[in-house]
Amino acid sequence: MNPDPALEPALARARDILAQSPRVAAFSGAGLSAESGLATFRDPDTDALWSRFDPTELASLEGFEANPGRVIDWYNWRRSKYAAVAPNAAHRALAAQTRMIQITQNVDHLLEQAGVAAERIYHLHGNMLYDRCHNRNCDHHERVDLDKPRQLRNCPRCGDYLRPAVVWFGESLPRETWVQAERLCRELDCLLVIGTSATVYPAAGLIDVVRQRQSRVIVIDPNPGAASDVADVHLAGPAAALLPALLEGFDLASTAR
Ligand SMILES: [Zn+2]
Repeated sequence: MNPDPALEPALARARDILAQSPRVAAFSGAGLSAESGLATFRDPDTDALWSRFDPTELASLEGFEANPGRVIDWYNWRRSKYAAVAPNAAHRALAAQTRMIQITQNVDHLLEQAGVAAERIYHLHGNMLYDRCHNRNCDHHERVDLDKPRQLRNCPRCGDYLRPAVVWFGESLPRETWVQAERLCRELDCLLVIGTSATVYPAAGLIDVVRQRQSRVIVIDPNPGAASDVADVHLAGPAAALLPALLEGFDLASTAR
């Protein structure tokens, strides 16, 4: 997929910004993985089994406490969809920047699958690859096999239920990950914002942090939105076409050498 020729001037401006930016990080959202065929749960879904449920009730503390087995069954269904998708050209272009940190709102594993080291990915909304103990005082985590997710079960350490290690509606972000992401954004020269409308706070506040220090923001998203309104450059197209063209030839880093 080649970028739209009409975007060449904007691509050139964005490449100039990157060339002048010693510290760059990426901040991605659903648009990055949508091109792999992964629908967000805000998209209409036609699956008869689950279409009558409101996802905001299933992906919530109240939903889990009311019916934990149903919530786990729903996640197992979602995980089976995750198992069937593969990284796209945008994930691969990001993975080629081996010194760059990936901040993502996505709970999928496609950056990992593209080759990004786990310690270079800040999953602000958690990660479907893991279950964690529902008991906040227990830090038990388990890797999940997306092909063979397991039924509702108990924590081997404390006996409470295990649940997906993702952030549900009404829950706060994983504190340590958030602190790391915010600290990183305070030091950046440029933030690449990919496939997120940046309307969900506090994650969207990272863009504000970057703007406050007069650093640059490059947005890649087919649609205009809150992020593109404050961007130095808005590349209005799909990430799978634009990111490879934007990043080609660069070896970007997120922290000073
Ligand atoms: Zn436990």
